[in-house]
Amino acid sequence: EFRKASRIDAIEVSEILQIGARAAELKQQGRPVIILGAGEPDFDTPDAIKQAAVDAIWAGETKYTALGGTTALKQAISAKFNRDHGLDYGLDEIIVSTGAKQVLYNAFMASLEPGDEVIVPAPYWTSYVDIIALAGGKPVLVPCEAETGFRMTPAQLQQALTPRTRWVLFNSPSNPSGAAYGAKNYAPLLQILLQHPDVWIMADDMYEHITYEGFDFATPAAVEPRLKSRCLTINGVSKAYAMTGWRIGYAGGPAALISAMAVIQGQSTSCASSVSQAAAVAALNGSQQILSERRSSFQARRDLVVDGLNALDGISCPRPEGAFYTFASCAGVLGRRTLGGEILETDADFCAYVLEQHDVAMVPGRAFGLSPYFRISYATSTAELREALARLARAVDQLR
Ligand code: PLP
Repeated sequence: EFRKASRIDAIEVSEILQIGARAAELKQQGRPVIILGAGEPDFDTPDAIKQAAVDAIWAGETKYTALGGTTALKQAISAKFNRDHGLDYGLDEIIVSTGAKQVLYNAFMASLEPGDEVIVPAPYWTSYVDIIALAGGKPVLVPCEAETGFRMTPAQLQQALTPRTRWVLFNSPSNPSGAAYGAKNYAPLLQILLQHPDVWIMADDMYEHITYEGFDFATPAAVEPRLKSRCLTINGVSKAYAMTGWRIGYAGGPAALISAMAVIQGQSTSCASSVSQAAAVAALNGSQQILSERRSSFQARRDLVVDGLNALDGISCPRPEGAFYTFASCAGVLGRRTLGGEILETDADFCAYVLEQHDVAMVPGRAFGLSPYFRISYATSTAELREALARLARAVDQLR
């Protein structure tokens, strides 16, 4: 009989996966379910990037690469940090991993002792808390409500810090809220962290290139250069260049941290895929025009969804600065009854009702540590979004 390791007990089966499975089941039964749960752009990887991968294959770049990434890719990453933020990272301060997810895994595995605390503003990307738990750490969740733009306030940070705090984790723009920290939002928080020399800062900038209306993206190491020596700046090509399947993420940080992360990587994946690394070089060094084209397409969809949601009685949705998610409050519909007489008590009830009776799959805020909200991913066609909004309108309309 299989006996699983106790470390797995710290990880819960993802609610997102459960909802995805239920939606797939309904689809199988012939129901026209619209799934607004995808965490990836619906665009395809640009042709020039694909071509670079094909060229790499024929050039024989099909072997293990250096553990922390090819020199060509690390140079492209170094140039990217410099071009976008004036950040100077040497090649020994950069690591390439199998997705930003592995960057996070490496970083927490390489730094956390049992019981070490990581401050995680909620709503958060669900993997953070699971990876922290796997690494033996303790996530300290800080609820950041819509009233403060889903951003952690200086007072909240001050209160969450303890002698055990090892990291503060920022994710801007955020999955799931789409909220982002500009330099002005970061400054007072970083001011506090200057006073806590043992606390390090992790910035997950995965959605950097998906921001709207001239929102001025900022990253902590550039906003407060005195903190660069304890910042890990994480990014990747998955969301920016529609390359989720290629599995390339990267980070810049102090050499000692980067080499500790490389130890973990060396005994888990060795290195990221050689072919994908060649493709990532093309993505980072090539024309960046694709980014603005896709941005405007995402922005139009954001506005469609936000306006559609705010037109519904009992739903209220702030307009996110970035990413491709909305995080709307359903507080106003809780306590109402469905046609079948069932009372909606939680965001999970609301999402289950909309899925089971109106064929739209969304994820309740509960899965991201903040209720009562629900996340919609609008990385899908405008036609599908319109239909989903019409169904949601019917769903809300039928409540009493
Ligand atoms: N960080 C955030 C906030 C994400 O939403 C995701 C993917 O959903 C990742 C990191 C991981 O990206 P990848 O492992 O594809 O680079």
